[in-house]
Amino acid sequence: MEDELEWYAHTGYGHFGIKKYMSYMNKFYYFKKLGHKIASLIRTCETCQKVKENNTHVKYRMYPIIQCWSKYVKLFPIKRANTWTVIHCLQQYFLEVGKPKLFLMDNGPQFVSNKFREFQAWEGIRQVLI
Ligand SMILES: [Zn+2]
Repeated sequence: MEDELEWYAHTGYGHFGIKKYMSYMNKFYYFKKLGHKIASLIRTCETCQKVKENNTHVKYRMYPIIQCWSKYVKLFPIKRANTWTVIHCLQQYFLEVGKPKLFLMDNGPQFVSNKFREFQAWEGIRQVLI
C-alpha cells in the first residue's frame, strides 16, 4: 500500500528530485524510513534516471500532457518534440489515461503537420490551436 501510494504520488507529482519529493510527501504522509524509500524509488524510476542532471550524455526533456479539468499532468521523457515523438506520447497517454475528445495545442510544427492531422483523423480527436 505504501509503495503504491509513493509511486502514484511520485509519478503524479512530476518526477522531481529526492529533496523536493521528500518535502512534498512530508506535508501529507508519515511512513517509517520515508527518506530511504523515496531515495530507492527515485533510483529505480526509469524516467528520473533518464532526465537527471548528471546524465549529460543523453539529453532528454519532459513533454507534458495536461488534463484541463483535473490538472492531471503526465510527463514523457523525449529527445525531440517532432511529430512522431508526440504521436507516440499521445498513444501511450490514451492507453494509460484515456482518449479525450478535444485537444488544446499550440501552433508547434509537430501539431500542424500532415502526419499529425492523419493521426487525429484516425483517432477521432478534435484539435483546437491556441
Ligand atoms: Zn521518477
